[in-house]
Amino acid sequence: MSDQTLTCKACGSTSFAVGELGHGYANIRPVNKRMTTGSPLLLTYCQDCGEVASMKVKEIGKLKN
Ligand SMILES: [Zn+2]
Repeated sequence: MSDQTLTCKACGSTSFAVGELGHGYANIRPVNKRMTTGSPLLLTYCQDCGEVASMKVKEIGKLKN
């Protein structure tokens, strides 16, 4: 997904993976736009210690007006 080199701020590892957080009621939704299904979040996390380096809205188009 990304070709930039990340370094874990907790343990110094450069081994990262991307996971998905959300689905259904756990999706992120704008507080003023409750009719949308929202979008899951993508988390980039360290494979050695679990530190989350980045959190990103997967489908930002669903959160825009
Ligand atoms: Zn780490």
